[in-house]
Amino acid sequence: MSKKKFSAGLAVFLAIVCLIVGCGIGLVGGFTADALTYKSDEAPHMHVEGALQVHFVELGNKYTGDCTYIKAGDTDILIDAGSRVDSVTAISEYINQYVTDGKLEYVIVTHAHQDHYAGFTKRSGSIFDLYECGTVIDFALTNQKDTSTMYQNYKAELADEVAAGATHYTARECIEQNKNVFDLGSGVTMTILDSYYYYHESSTENDYSVCTLFTSGDDNYLFTGDLEAAGEAKLVEMNPGLPEVTLYKAGHHGSKTSSSDALLSVIKPEIVCVCCCCGSPEYTKTDANQFPTQQFVDRIAPYTDKVYVTTLCIDYDAGKFEPMNGTIVVVTGAAGVTVTCSNSDKVLKEWDWFKQHRTCPAAWK
Ligand SMILES: [Zn+2]
Repeated sequence: MSKKKFSAGLAVFLAIVCLIVGCGIGLVGGFTADALTYKSDEAPHMHVEGALQVHFVELGNKYTGDCTYIKAGDTDILIDAGSRVDSVTAISEYINQYVTDGKLEYVIVTHAHQDHYAGFTKRSGSIFDLYECGTVIDFALTNQKDTSTMYQNYKAELADEVAAGATHYTARECIEQNKNVFDLGSGVTMTILDSYYYYHESSTENDYSVCTLFTSGDDNYLFTGDLEAAGEAKLVEMNPGLPEVTLYKAGHHGSKTSSSDALLSVIKPEIVCVCCCCGSPEYTKTDANQFPTQQFVDRIAPYTDKVYVTTLCIDYDAGKFEPMNGTIVVVTGAAGVTVTCSNSDKVLKEWDWFKQHRTCPAAWK
């Protein structure tokens, strides 16, 4: 790897800090899933321990978008880097607490919408520039044209990363080359699921989303990007034995067009995390269809009330937002599965926003 991604001095300093913090936690909590939770005024400094950690990272602006950082033992994985180019600052400040060697072993770019891939598109200063990326897995198809500056930049940044030594597969190549199951160590497996829209064109970019399943013992964690209902039905069909899941990242930010019954009746999620700016008119002025939508709530409710949301919109036009749960961390460790949030641990139905804007489903009463 020829790129100098990270100051060695800084890496050593962070390693020492982590060692000290880690020892502290070890003394107090015995290195289980204990979490030190800091509230929003101190965010994003939150340190958790556990064999498998899934962090839904707040993105530092008013826009809905996805960035999921996963730590499996010493293996670091990033799924998406939305929502805007400037989110790279918030993302890197957060994940640098954990990525102490400047290396992301796996990077998954689900689809070519800016709320998912903007952070990979900055010429000089993208995630690809800041970190040494081992294996990059991205979408097989896109409707983006080469005239799109953001898409051009993505391709150039990816090419640079490959030139620097990264391995690149599209999700379709992973399937076709039988390289879709990755042993991450610490008993954790990452599987790139098969999906109809790796092979067939769609009018909706969302359908091209790379879908990934992580497994740790009996616990499964599903990430479908922004895949919509038709794609979800195919996902179930094409991946026989899709398991019930401990954690599901709400498809398409809790849109009414995703998290269909066809998928939910198979995966029966226990914990659901929604990456969005809750109640924002960014995509629609219709209240019930703003993320997380009423239809999403109604379909999820029979399975679980453990629904968490990253960010709350205060005033979209004025650019005002604040953490709702904040950065949400789902940790699987010796103590089982725990959810720790940077701002609040309240579930969706307990928020005033929910009481004012959503009809409470019977299952949540
Ligand atoms: Zn999206």
